[in-house]
Amino acid sequence: MSDTRYLDWPFLDERHRSLARALDAWALGNAAHGHGPDVDAECRALVRSLGTAGWLRHAVGGVEFGGAGDALDTRALCLIRETLARHSGLADFAFAMQGLGSGAISLAGTPAQKQRYLTRVARGEAIAAFALSEPDAGSDVGAMACAGRVDGADVVIDGQKTWISNGGIADFYVTFVRTGEAAGARGISAFIVDADTPGFEVAERIEVIAPHPLARLRFTNCRVPLAQRVGAAGEGFKVAMRTLDVFRTSVAAAALGFARRALEEALARATQRRMFGQTLADFQLTQAKLAQMATTIDSAALLVYRAAWLRDQGQSITREAAMAKMVATEGAQKVIDDAVQIFGGLGVVSGHPVERLYREIRSLRIYEGATEVQQLIIGRDLLKAFGAPRT
Ligand SMILES: Cc1cc2nc3c(=O)[nH]c(=O)nc-3n(C[C@H](O)[C@H](O)[C@H](O)COP(=O)(O)OP(=O)(O)OC[C@H]3O[C@@H](n4cnc5c(N)ncnc54)[C@H](O)[C@@H]3O)c2cc1C
Repeated sequence: MSDTRYLDWPFLDERHRSLARALDAWALGNAAHGHGPDVDAECRALVRSLGTAGWLRHAVGGVEFGGAGDALDTRALCLIRETLARHSGLADFAFAMQGLGSGAISLAGTPAQKQRYLTRVARGEAIAAFALSEPDAGSDVGAMACAGRVDGADVVIDGQKTWISNGGIADFYVTFVRTGEAAGARGISAFIVDADTPGFEVAERIEVIAPHPLARLRFTNCRVPLAQRVGAAGEGFKVAMRTLDVFRTSVAAAALGFARRALEEALARATQRRMFGQTLADFQLTQAKLAQMATTIDSAALLVYRAAWLRDQGQSITREAAMAKMVATEGAQKVIDDAVQIFGGLGVVSGHPVERLYREIRSLRIYEGATEVQQLIIGRDLLKAFGAPRT
């Protein structure tokens, strides 16, 4: 573990510090930065090993359902994502999706749903996915068209979801559909759809710059028992937003992990690379760059752990989570770009750690709310607090 002074910050408790140190030691031996071409197999293996080692207990809430605590511990989630991202983007992804995919069940599921799904998620025996986005409803979630029609004791789902992480390898998908109790966001409900449900299919796999399982899903006359609904009818949008409030902060933490790794790589390279009779690190231009990178990382870390700490105190963190995600993801992109610059030609060689980081970070500025969406959330919240009339 490199610079760990931030672990002494007052946002964290002793149990968080020991968790971060133990995970770092585990990740050194079990989560390599590079991975082979078969991301499906690697993700399945990572989920199993994260489950066996006990780390996935932190991805679910409820001790009686396999969780590490009775509620999701946002600071633990963030420290785990930050640490895994520093070692391996795919390991972070595998952990994060177990949490995001089952998050709605942790927050709003029935005891029976928790027993059936969370226990297996925590052991790494079931892979979870979160299906909200659609081809015509990404940033504008309220434009969702995938429809759920109640028929007796079932809901019948027809439509599509896209950009679904773990699509193709998940055992179940928490799927948000328009059930029409009211107009717009108040007419959406969440259902757990098992991957073997008739009428559910993976319509297309999607290849992205930092490979991980991703797919477009199709639902055709897909019949799911109403008992699979998570939260009340018409409350699906609220359930999605509550889930995203937790996991958005953890996306920021993952960005932080990528940025920390980039800085570590840059420091190692700058102090070793000789040029003009000295090392690259001896030049003040390089020191200025390293200083900016470190300051960007610490600013992001303060926002991440403030948001996580506030949520763990039971406070609403919509504004703070948005600030953390915006600053950490945008800042990490710049830090990683600076690291690539410090490496020169080596920084763009396929498979080099900083080249991988350069690809890994990009989509974090888009998913779980693009940066522009975070700006809107912050701006609206400021105006609301100021008492400005809603437009
Ligand atoms: C790698 C990856 C994994 C993903 N995993 C999942 C998943 O597991 N589950 C899931 O449900 N979804 C997932 N998504 C989808 C993701 O949440 C959406 O891509 C995201 O919400 C943006 O939607 P969109 O792609 O349709 O872009 P659009 O909604 O078309 O937005 C395009 C761009 O418009 C800009 N923009 C948006 N709103 C505004 C505004 N109000 N004003 C000005 N500019 C604006 C932003 O720059 C944005 O990037 C994933 C996406 C990616 C890339």
